Amino acid sequence: MKNKLLAILIKQSQYSESSLILQYFTRQQGMISVIAKGIRKKNEKQQLLPLCEYELIAYEPKEQGLWLFSEANITRNFSAYPSSSTWAAAETGLELISHLIISQEDIATIYDLTISYLDYLKKVERNAILIFWRFLNRITILSGIGNPLSYCCLCKNPLDVPNAYLKTKGGFVCEKCLPEINPDNALMILSPPARNILTLLPEIANHLEDIIINRAVVNEINTVFELYWEAHHKQALHLKGLSVLAQFYNS
Ligand SMILES: [Zn+2]
Repeated sequence: MKNKLLAILIKQSQYSESSLILQYFTRQQGMISVIAKGIRKKNEKQQLLPLCEYELIAYEPKEQGLWLFSEANITRNFSAYPSSSTWAAAETGLELISHLIISQEDIATIYDLTISYLDYLKKVERNAILIFWRFLNRITILSGIGNPLSYCCLCKNPLDVPNAYLKTKGGFVCEKCLPEINPDNALMILSPPARNILTLLPEIANHLEDIIINRAVVNEINTVFELYWEAHHKQALHLKGLSVLAQFYNS
């Protein structure tokens, strides 16, 4: 059956001399793989751009398998960003989405959030990683494991400032609880800049210009999100893009 889908192009890989396998995140069907036969022989104008949104016409497979490409017309162009670090943030966002297992009822919400993320980045020249972390936090919540930044994992009170991450409890610890914990390998005390970024995360877009980030802070924040994800999904979050993003900051 022929379907008309709104779709973000995540990845293209070569299938044969003339064909490509396209990975799309669609608003109607979630993640799908599409075979586009003969597309590599077409002229440059008809080649597809990664990160962009298309109106995709494709045939649904009878059983599980590859969709068959018919045509795609670009609806929103997200292929150009003000800096390469912003571009890397956009790519890492899509890498995150491609790792998710999304239930049918959440697809449209996550799709719309992804579109607004890609759209927002178009006006961000520096510190796009801050917007990436805001996106990662929203996706973490939508993935069903709660908001790591909402309450202290020990006293369960609302968290004003995440002071430390406690691996054995899989959550952040508030200022009051911190002195009660024996410092050991399970306790990751956060640096003041990392605390500041995580505290400001919901309104981080207002602070893109005044926050100074170094590579150690990037690694710290990436690590706490990875630890939280792993503790609650029981599955590691390995995003190649996270280490790429860290390279834009000096140690
Ligand atoms: Zn507490």
